[in-house]
Amino acid sequence: VADLNGLRYTRAGTVEEALQLLERFGPRYMPVAGGTDLLVGLRRGWYDGIEGVVDIARVDALRGLDAQDGQICIGSCATHAELAVHDLLRAEYPALASASAAVGSPQIRNRGTIGGNIVGAAPCADTVPALLVAGALVEVVAPSGTRSVSVDQFITGPYTAALQPHELTRAVVLPRLKPGGRWGYERLARRGALDRARMSVVALAWLDDDGRIDEVRIAPGAVLPKPRRLSEAEGMLRGKTPTTALLSEAARGSAAAVVDEAGRRWSAPYKQRVLATLVRRALEQATAAEGLPDE
Ligand SMILES: Cc1cc2nc3c(=O)[nH]c(=O)nc-3n(C[C@H](O)[C@H](O)[C@H](O)COP(=O)(O)OP(=O)(O)OC[C@H]3O[C@@H](n4cnc5c(N)ncnc54)[C@H](O)[C@@H]3O)c2cc1C
Repeated sequence: VADLNGLRYTRAGTVEEALQLLERFGPRYMPVAGGTDLLVGLRRGWYDGIEGVVDIARVDALRGLDAQDGQICIGSCATHAELAVHDLLRAEYPALASASAAVGSPQIRNRGTIGGNIVGAAPCADTVPALLVAGALVEVVAPSGTRSVSVDQFITGPYTAALQPHELTRAVVLPRLKPGGRWGYERLARRGALDRARMSVVALAWLDDDGRIDEVRIAPGAVLPKPRRLSEAEGMLRGKTPTTALLSEAARGSAAAVVDEAGRRWSAPYKQRVLATLVRRALEQATAAEGLPDE
């Protein structure tokens, strides 16, 4: 146990050791991975009563990315820098790789992890929309065993995740997707360099042989207190030919619903227009509908 600016610091070597330490120390200790959220929060006084951290960043079983049995298992301590350049992710889940590539700055991406991103559960967490669209499961380990929950069940509200103090997020598991899907990804930030997303949208669509939308999934980022897919727009688009007029209509409708749900403040008219544009653009990319005539 070392001292880190008045905070007790312990490094775990294995998942079992980390779980034992968290159980022994109780809720006054928190796990720390990259520390890019936690250390900032501690300094700002967001975690009252926290006396120490258990560093899990060097636990081998929590690192790296493993493709097996119809799924891809991303260790919770995989960094954004690793995910941004991973060939398999870039090929099969390009919006997730792009989302990780958009996080913060090179320093933040080298330390910040996917586990920290979802446990921190900031509404603007960049990986969340792509994980929702991919149908990802979050694997949680506790001394009593392991459970898997979907990302929208795991993130229960702004900065709140369904995780007990003695539990760890072990991995994020992506199911292999049926072939032929196309992704769209749009992200708006105030500045290029170090700013968090103001809004983002991920879309994924499969077209049938006649060019109609067989299946489509859409998720916005940084606009809703609790993340969810835009099921109204998805339902409206299914079975239809993706014309610009149709995609615009679906985008406008879902943007209005999202802004209503988030609460109408002075910025609502701006947000609604921008979100509708991002949804339409992401859908155009995902359906390859760019340049299609309006109907
Ligand atoms: C300057 C700056 C810019 C940023 N820009 C962005 C951005 O553009 N987009 C974005 O999404 N985020 C951004 N962030 C936020 C942050 O970098 C990310 O959310 C990052 O992914 C957090 O990961 P971490 O490993 O550093 O988390 P940590 O700070 O180590 O942990 C965050 C929380 O998760 C818990 N935790 C971490 N791992 C686990 C685990 N395996 N099991 C259980 N609990 C765990 C910790 O106890 C803590 O509560 C930025 C942060 C800074 C400081």
